[in-house]
Amino acid sequence: MGKATVCVASVCAVAVCAGAAVVVRHRMRSSGRWAKAAAIVKELEEKCGTPIGKLRQVADAMAVEMHAGLASEGGSKLKMIISFVDNLPTGDEKGLFYALDLGGTNFRVLRVQLGGKDNRVAKQEFEEVSIPPHLMVGTSDALFDFIAAALKKFVDTEGEDSHLSPGRQRELGFTFSFPVKQSSIAAGTLIKWTKGFSIEDAVGQDVVGELTKAMERVGLDMRVAALVNDTIGTLAGGRYDNPDVIAAVILGTGTNAAYVERAHAIPKWHGLLPKSGDMVINMEWGNFRSSHLPLTEYDQAMDVESLNPGEQIFEKLISGMYLGEILRRVLCRMAEEADFFGDTIPPKLKIPFILRTPDMSAMHHDTSSDLRVVGSKLKDILEIPNTSLKTRKLIVELCDIISIRGARLSAAGILGILKKLGRDTVREEEKQRSVIALDGGLYEHYTKFREAMESTLKELLGEASDTIVIEHSNDGSGVGAALLAASHSQYLEVEDS
Ligand code: ADP
Ligand code: MG
Repeated sequence: MGKATVCVASVCAVAVCAGAAVVVRHRMRSSGRWAKAAAIVKELEEKCGTPIGKLRQVADAMAVEMHAGLASEGGSKLKMIISFVDNLPTGDEKGLFYALDLGGTNFRVLRVQLGGKDNRVAKQEFEEVSIPPHLMVGTSDALFDFIAAALKKFVDTEGEDSHLSPGRQRELGFTFSFPVKQSSIAAGTLIKWTKGFSIEDAVGQDVVGELTKAMERVGLDMRVAALVNDTIGTLAGGRYDNPDVIAAVILGTGTNAAYVERAHAIPKWHGLLPKSGDMVINMEWGNFRSSHLPLTEYDQAMDVESLNPGEQIFEKLISGMYLGEILRRVLCRMAEEADFFGDTIPPKLKIPFILRTPDMSAMHHDTSSDLRVVGSKLKDILEIPNTSLKTRKLIVELCDIISIRGARLSAAGILGILKKLGRDTVREEEKQRSVIALDGGLYEHYTKFREAMESTLKELLGEASDTIVIEHSNDGSGVGAALLAASHSQYLEVEDS
């Protein structure tokens, strides 16, 4: 109820503001308009400022929250979820393993033949299946039956060159990127659906149990060996390629990070200390917040009107779902208060989320002398024709301010992890390397974002920057889940002995 009231009020405010502006508008001279538009940009730039000192405060706050989240359940905005992954791939993994990646409108099934140190990933095959919309809002059985049937069909295509050891059951790594309360490496209950899914009878159920029952129903003999999310899959895939990988960060529609913690440094862990001494933590860092974060009126309004007000504040400053929307909000204010697009406010500009981050990125990267791409995006998406070069330049400046803030804050987040692990400074005795595996569409495709993030991290680290490496882990999460099935296989003990 409260939410609805806020939304209605804000819509009215826009309408009132638009009405009043008409009177003034005729009198606003061109020079006055530009001065006002420039003032809005300047104000945004100041409010979005991320000087190094501020980034250090953000990194310190991140490290403090990490400690708090590890100390007790609910001790911090950072959930610091214990993943039960205490063994990351070493490269020795051998055998045939499957992975299933569910986290959006498509799911992927994957088959990998692991050949140990010498042969690595000897063979890899995958198939992508889109989920019919009615199954996203139906019953748990219907969804999992559909997934199990697709998986069975895929298993049936296993060729001569796939080698399952005789007498063994097939094993699967299950990447499930929805909030889960994990209770063991291969069990976890669904807390809530996101991303357009709404299947009430699955909430509170063990998703591995649901999948396993469905596999039995379709006659597929397969065991789920590991249940993980995409950050942990990326960490595992990254570690397989490079033993120095200690953390993984996803910058895509949303953002999150996972890293390898020493198990004895997790006060809320009451189980046995794992043999490896390590435990992978899923930070859920998108929910980080701190008084040091540079929040503007646009961020606050977007948050209030969002589906999850007050939550995922760090994510709302950084990730692909939101950057374009922040830009739209600034442009909206410029249209209303500075007649930035002429006498009327372009109606399309009022539609939330109409400007997507890939469009913003395309405008930001426009290198043509007349900023042609900016012009055509404005025309095609917002139906604003004939924009001047001056207008286009100002828009590129806005893209820069908003994306660079996100990029620099991501770097501060990574510094927070390194600080928590004591890897942010060079130690005299050893020059240990720390590699961070990065993945996600924003990181992959938004070049200026990526470059700003990487150079900011260098700047923050100073002389320690030689020992820290960022590596793109291209779709590590799919293979990563199969690798985790291997490193948590039921047959591991047999092989060890
Ligand atoms: P997801 O995070 O949904 O699993 P991806 O990792 O593929 O999927 O990331 C997709 C997101 O990446 C998109 O929602 C978008 O925000 C961002 N993105 C994709 N392409 C671009 C691009 N060219 N420029 C900027 N951002 C992009
Ligand atoms: Mg993804």
